[in-house]
Amino acid sequence: MEIKKKDIRALTKEQLRDFFVSEGDKAFRGNQVYEWLWQKSAHSFDSMTNISKETREMLENNFVINHIKVDQMQRSSDGTIKNAVRLHDDLVVESVLIPTATRTTACVSSQVGCSLDCRFCATARLKRMRNLNPDEIYDQVVAIDNESRLYFDRPLSNIVFMGMGEPLMNYNNVLKAIEKITSPEGLGMSPKRIIVSTSGVPKIIKKMADEEVKFGLAVSLHSAIDEVRTSIMPFNATFPLKDLREALQYWYSKTKNRITYEYVVWEGINDTQEAANALFKFCKFAPSKVNLIEYNPIDDGEFQQASNDAVEMYQNTLEKNGITVTVRRSRGKDIDAACGQLANKR
Ligand code: SAH
Repeated sequence: MEIKKKDIRALTKEQLRDFFVSEGDKAFRGNQVYEWLWQKSAHSFDSMTNISKETREMLENNFVINHIKVDQMQRSSDGTIKNAVRLHDDLVVESVLIPTATRTTACVSSQVGCSLDCRFCATARLKRMRNLNPDEIYDQVVAIDNESRLYFDRPLSNIVFMGMGEPLMNYNNVLKAIEKITSPEGLGMSPKRIIVSTSGVPKIIKKMADEEVKFGLAVSLHSAIDEVRTSIMPFNATFPLKDLREALQYWYSKTKNRITYEYVVWEGINDTQEAANALFKFCKFAPSKVNLIEYNPIDDGEFQQASNDAVEMYQNTLEKNGITVTVRRSRGKDIDAACGQLANKR
């Protein structure tokens, strides 16, 4: 029976250096291979041209490079690109490139499927199969950076963890991926250009605050009234608003970073003045920005985007109370690449 080869990108740089020393080689060889694996995104040991043939064969016998493969790329009429990304075990996740006049944003997945159960989200209908590894998250970013250079003649500028999955339910791997993305030995991007979006896991938000992470935080709130929020995001029963708010207060006290909220206004669910008041009362404790995002229908019409009047009512209520508001239009709807539409519909 063939021995199972190890995933070489699961090793830290130190572990790789130690491995070469244990093989009677120089620790420095570890640095060279590490650079090939991350900064140069090598897909094979054979392509590592400054490594001797003998060493490459030795690596080949001991390790695999589990690279993702962009299986299918779809382009929207508005320029948005959606990648179906095949993983080494044949599972598929999706990531999205969102171009604007001045930016290219990558929207990446953190899990195959999702462990949460938001009733308005297509990804929630796929059960969570597994967490993505750091390299699988990193590779999605590299693929989009390459596409940005190819189609838009500029590098990727921003990253949002708003694809499939709940990033804070795979926090350790997300953090490791961000470390690689921001390291000069990886992509060297500024953490200020990265936003992790969560439905709100209080314990992990506090942990992030303690670790003084440098990336931004967005919270998918959708309602600041427990009863309503639980009816559309059932896990709110486990992590109620009081706990979420306490964690966010802690986050703000440690990081002094503005908090972004994602919020969809639905007809008959949260389109009242009372709901808007609850929202500003929830977020007024810290500098906040609310993104009012457009609903992307995923089904039979149980959820419907509220009227423009209701959205304006929200906008006025928030602005009057000193909260920054943006009304965001969806991108990539024609290829099912918009928020909440990622569901491997193939
Ligand atoms: N689990 C994370 C990240 C993935 S969802 C989170 O909850 O933040 C990315 C964003 O899309 C979230 O704000 C989510 O609430 C929103 N969303 C989900 N389904 C949607 C839909 N059908 N239309 C518009 N936004 C949706």
